[in-house]
Amino acid sequence: AEEIIYQKEKLSVIGQLAAGIAHEIRNPLTAVKGFTQLLKTEESNEYLDIMMEEMERIEQIVSDLLVLGKPQAANIEMVNIKRILQRTISLFHAEAMLHNIEIVQELDLSDPYIEGEADKLKQVLINLIKNAMESMPKGGEIIIRAKQLPSEEILIQVMDNGVGIPPERIEKLGEPFFSNKEKGTGLGLMICNRIIKNHKGKMEIDSEVNKGTTISITLHKKIAS
Ligand code: ADP
Ligand code: MG
Repeated sequence: AEEIIYQKEKLSVIGQLAAGIAHEIRNPLTAVKGFTQLLKTEESNEYLDIMMEEMERIEQIVSDLLVLGKPQAANIEMVNIKRILQRTISLFHAEAMLHNIEIVQELDLSDPYIEGEADKLKQVLINLIKNAMESMPKGGEIIIRAKQLPSEEILIQVMDNGVGIPPERIEKLGEPFFSNKEKGTGLGLMICNRIIKNHKGKMEIDSEVNKGTTISITLHKKIAS
């Protein structure tokens, strides 16, 4: 397993800059999106549909970048991680079926409560499940596992039997904007890693080409300050 390591200081400067710019982009974007929406009510127009779609993409990137500027998790509370997992997985029901993908849940947690930020943890899971789905263009199986470790920590794993990642690429995953996808941003894993770090947790990648990928996340039940 390889832990994603970032050059800490460099990333925090880049992160703050990125978040600052993202913040400035948000307002004009909201205005442009609003006016595009107004034009759309006339009659259906393919160009306007594309504009809306692309603006939603910018919005997603901008909200990803905003996370990078945050030094640590802000709204820590007791969250039911089992419920977060179940709800997030259910968001992918239709899309999984469409792509011939089965999502199997193995959630074995007697006490599912941990300290964390529900929205952020959900964002991590969404990114990981998306990646898993995108790695299986012909369909396959995603196993999402959660269990208690003897160390009082909780282990969450997202496993797929997709295309996998060659070793030399795993090393690069820490770098922002490194994507192998035509429409990818290369921000997903970086955001995940940042969020997990903010929770004082750990994220590891295990992958074998043509076999599949497992992302393992360890979270403490209580975030030591
Ligand atoms: P994006 O999905 O926008 O490309 P990510 O940071 O989420 O950005 O992922 C970066 C790259 O890591 C992807 O382009 C892909 O090549 C690789 N990757 C991530 N997760 C998986 C996975 N489950 N299976 C195969 N490759 C993956
Ligand atoms: Mg992704």
